[in-house]
Amino acid sequence: MAEDKKLGFDDTPLIPGTRWHVHDGQRPQPPVVAPGDESTQNSPGAAPADAIILFDGKDASGWVKSSDGASPLAWKVADGYMEITPKGGDIATKAHFGDCQLHLEWASPTVPSGDDQGRGNSGAYLMGLYEVQILDCYENVTYADGTTGGMYGQCPPLANACRRPGLWQTYDIIWAAPRFIGDGRVVPARVTVLHNGVLLHHDRELMGPTKYRQVASYRPHAETGPLVLQDHGDPVRFRNIWYRPIVGYDRT
Ligand code: MG
Repeated sequence: MAEDKKLGFDDTPLIPGTRWHVHDGQRPQPPVVAPGDESTQNSPGAAPADAIILFDGKDASGWVKSSDGASPLAWKVADGYMEITPKGGDIATKAHFGDCQLHLEWASPTVPSGDDQGRGNSGAYLMGLYEVQILDCYENVTYADGTTGGMYGQCPPLANACRRPGLWQTYDIIWAAPRFIGDGRVVPARVTVLHNGVLLHHDRELMGPTKYRQVASYRPHAETGPLVLQDHGDPVRFRNIWYRPIVGYDRT
């Protein structure tokens, strides 16, 4: 990145409870932590016996274009992964779910191009609404709440645990959906995220669905939703995506 390039924004609203603006370029950077084990690079680990497989590296029939919720996806599916293609658009699972343990693996493009938010950008939207940022932040700086594994626009990750572009990376996410219990009362969503085995968020409360340059807030929405993967114009790859519903999680 050019030395004089400005990071993020300072003309956005303050995030309540913090001294930082949404996407604040001055917000402290998460410390870089090199993840350890690379033993699963060549073959992904097996899913637990009761996991619901969303993508096994070959069969993408459980996915549709997010824009209409019906058309077959236009991403490349080959060689054990799927890859965002030009104008492929966001994709969504046919399955809709709420509270869950979610596992997915992704790899940033090689050769890397662009910088800041323009480098290997994608995202995993829980319930189609709450983005866990996917970005190539290996030797690439961006605003803190847009860093890899950040809850975009709200919570920077506790660490930057990116592997080099091209290597497979894991997300393990524990998701507690918000509850809308009438009279405007909301039990907020909570999220725990591990990136390559490194903790990024621990039971973090969210302010609402992901917004760009705005403070997030809740409006009632469905109890379940699809997993959506973002097409941000970069050929990010995905493999080994599964979830386990969390049943009987009483949060009211
Ligand atoms: Mg993104």
